[in-house]
Amino acid sequence: MIKPFEKPIYVTRPFLPPFDGFCEELKEIWESQWLTNNGPILRRFSDLLSRFFDTDNICLFNNGTLALQIALQGMEISGEVITTPFSFVATTHALLWNKIRPVFVDIEPDYYTLDPEKVESAITPLTSAILAVHVYGHPCQINSLSDIAKKHNLKLIYDSAHAFGVKIGNRSIADFGDLNLFSLHATKLYHSLEGGMLIFKQTRLKNTFNYLKNFGFKNELEVVMVGTNAKMNEIQALMGIQVLRYLEEIIQRRSKLSEVYRRRLVEIPGIRLVPAMSADIMYNYAYMPIEVDEREFRLSRDALYEKLKHWNIFGRRYFYPLICDYACYRSISVENPLTVARRAADRILTLPIYDSLQISDVERICEVIRLIHLGENAR
Ligand SMILES: *Cc1c(COP(=O)(O)O)cnc(C)c1O
Repeated sequence: MIKPFEKPIYVTRPFLPPFDGFCEELKEIWESQWLTNNGPILRRFSDLLSRFFDTDNICLFNNGTLALQIALQGMEISGEVITTPFSFVATTHALLWNKIRPVFVDIEPDYYTLDPEKVESAITPLTSAILAVHVYGHPCQINSLSDIAKKHNLKLIYDSAHAFGVKIGNRSIADFGDLNLFSLHATKLYHSLEGGMLIFKQTRLKNTFNYLKNFGFKNELEVVMVGTNAKMNEIQALMGIQVLRYLEEIIQRRSKLSEVYRRRLVEIPGIRLVPAMSADIMYNYAYMPIEVDEREFRLSRDALYEKLKHWNIFGRRYFYPLICDYACYRSISVENPLTVARRAADRILTLPIYDSLQISDVERICEVIRLIHLGENAR
């Protein structure tokens, strides 16, 4: 007889490094009394990430949203940008903050990333860039998007907020496109409390980004740009350094949980899983999305979502509604059909996955989903 969880199981919980070790290294900050403004720990963090991603073209920020806003401004993107409606709102908010018009294009049905076949027909003389999202950490169709960007002389920007640690072949996901945005927010699989990071191809952008995140200061007396304040502080950097030590463990742990989910859920009628990825992709298991087929499962995604709450299981309907359906986007016309995105938004539920979740918890969650399908014990 299966019981509800005693404590709520949320879709994610942040990874925390051992408390004593964190305090030990905090002492350095107390001693230096250097809390922010390109401090020694931030520089150490930046060096570590440079080695991790094998590039010096890296810039850290206090969060991912401001990093993306600054990226678009620094790259002088304007006019229209082709993007996906199936993402977190910050992706397109960053466009609007730069007075850029988002042109929403549909996604493909397997991994929910921007559909390259639909991108090309959405290009107009005003298009300056493609902003694609490696949603759930699933790599976009990188080769096709690169070809289109090259052919039409567009910048190719990736919102890689979900994709830290993902590799294709032996190359980091950050190797592709003109620029990659990573969010290091506490809810992401790798984090620095809050934080953002840009990795980019053009070396000259580094100065621009550094100016823009620090009010435009070039030195004590010169302000060369109307910048903002988007600097990462020392405690964020310390968290980033410490969590990075556990990245492999975090991904391995998630991979195990995902395997259990897949093994159990594949047996339940009406639950569709993301297809296995090609062998050259090293995935990070950032999310655990499932699609609910109402007819076969006998209940809608929303009904499952509600019923799970009675068992103390809190999935999330990422990403519902579509960005273009939020009130603040309704004035932006959507010219392309978004059939696949709408279907995904109506059917997807992301299930809890995080390193401290137990295998037995995952087994219990799957058993609850099975019971809900059978209408037994339906709470
Ligand atoms: C989290 C997230 C962001 C924003 O990052 P913050 O660090 O929270 O500002 C941007 N895009 C996507 C897809 C995200 O999930």
